[in-house]
Amino acid sequence: MKRNPSDTRGRARFHAFGLALRQRFGGRVQRVSIDAGFTCPNVDGAVARGGCNFCDNRSFSPSRRVRLAAVADQLTRGMASLRKRYKRVDGFIAYFQPATNTYAPVEQLEEVYRLALAHSPEIVGLAIGTRPDCVPDEVFDLVDSLAADSYVSVEFGMQSRHDETLAWMNRAHRHGHMVDAMNRCRGRRFETCAHVILGVPGETEDQMMHTARAIGVLGVDAVKLHNLYAVRGTLLGEQVEAGEIRLLERGDYIRTVIEFLRRIPPQVIVERVSGDAPPDYLIEPRWCLEKASLRRDIELEMERLDAFQGDRFDPDWQDEPVEPLPTPESILRQIATRGRLPVFKVQAARTESCSQSDDQPGDSFDNSSAS
Ligand code: SF4
Repeated sequence: MKRNPSDTRGRARFHAFGLALRQRFGGRVQRVSIDAGFTCPNVDGAVARGGCNFCDNRSFSPSRRVRLAAVADQLTRGMASLRKRYKRVDGFIAYFQPATNTYAPVEQLEEVYRLALAHSPEIVGLAIGTRPDCVPDEVFDLVDSLAADSYVSVEFGMQSRHDETLAWMNRAHRHGHMVDAMNRCRGRRFETCAHVILGVPGETEDQMMHTARAIGVLGVDAVKLHNLYAVRGTLLGEQVEAGEIRLLERGDYIRTVIEFLRRIPPQVIVERVSGDAPPDYLIEPRWCLEKASLRRDIELEMERLDAFQGDRFDPDWQDEPVEPLPTPESILRQIATRGRLPVFKVQAARTESCSQSDDQPGDSFDNSSAS
């Protein structure tokens, strides 16, 4: 029976990541997180100290990384655990997640990215989380060359279109850095993803919708939407516990996400519609722990409204002019003088001792804050 084109029941309401991966790889592909021991220019003083107000970056210090494991061990363990969780996994994306995963000389980046790609034929690609002010051209050249043979996605912590919001978060970069990074990405073979946080105190509905429109102007391939949430060990966590800051209620978040999705281009892949953290680490809001029901309620509400991703997208909308800002000299200097990434020391120790030791690799730290 022919379907009536005006009958929208059962049609996907947004361009979800899982489906996009299935279409691309022909099966279920899951991401495996890797901690290579990167730090962050917003923590070590290159651009600021203290880091973002929502990020537990104490664990980025090498002295706290006592349980860092070799790349191969992290992948083996992560892949095994995903295989246990899902009946069938057809491939894996190695996800360089904690801290700023382009914050090292390009030769070291190449070494560590290739280590991950070479680990197993089941690794179908890489995802690399970073800041938009920490991607010199040579990093894009490297990633572009890797993307000739593998799927690669560079994930930028954009967070907001608005500099005052970025300042509130203590991001220590501006939207001009995101504009510059995206200008230099055009025509490359890898994908780009923008992380956006919704529900920042003081950011208005109009400002959040402006960020949504900016997604179309920037031309990113994918977005990850997060509700602002507070975890232990952060300035934001202290303020939330002291009652100084209130985070979005669930219903308001659902409404905001839907309006955001309606304003971004329909082809942009939606990698996440909410953020979460381990339950004992999360302070508020507790509703984001129920990820599946949150997503279901977003879809149900879109169905009730007969809303679709992109149905309010305006291809002619123009952003106010933003001056593109290059990678700061202070970051370039820090990259040029940094030593070997901690993960290489673990790799070397593993190679030397694996024939005589039966130690199990430890878990990498449980902080999933990415740039
Ligand atoms: S969220 Fe990203 S940019 Fe901010 S301190 Fe943490 S690692 Fe650095």
